[in-house]
Amino acid sequence: MENCLFCKIVNGDIPSDKVYEDDRVFAFRDINPQAPFHVLVVPKKHVASVAEIDKLEDSEVAACLRAVAKIAADASLSGGFRVISNCGPDACQSVPHLHFHILGGRQMADKMA
Ligand code: AMP
Repeated sequence: MENCLFCKIVNGDIPSDKVYEDDRVFAFRDINPQAPFHVLVVPKKHVASVAEIDKLEDSEVAACLRAVAKIAADASLSGGFRVISNCGPDACQSVPHLHFHILGGRQMADKMA
């Protein structure tokens, strides 16, 4: 998708701190980390958010979540981690390309919102 920040990162047009890549998924460190470990997992195919997940193949959705688990395991987040996908303005989504935040490395707040 033209002018999509995360598509440009996936394509290598904008540099990123990559932590994982396969044929369907790309993952990189968040530029403004909210926790000691903060990685974004995105499908390579552009969809705006979870609200558009029907535009992905089931295998692409599964690949994202399998990547989340692999990245967390590789990072030894043995105490646990949080996975968040902001969807739309009420959730303060700022980049309209589906992404899953992985947050870890510290105790998370009890309240999610
Ligand atoms: P969201 O607000 O849920 O849409 O999350 C978008 C995330 O993208 C934010 O946490 C930003 O810090 C992050 N972000 C924005 N630009 C970049 C970039 N160039 N590289 C890495 N992360 C970015």
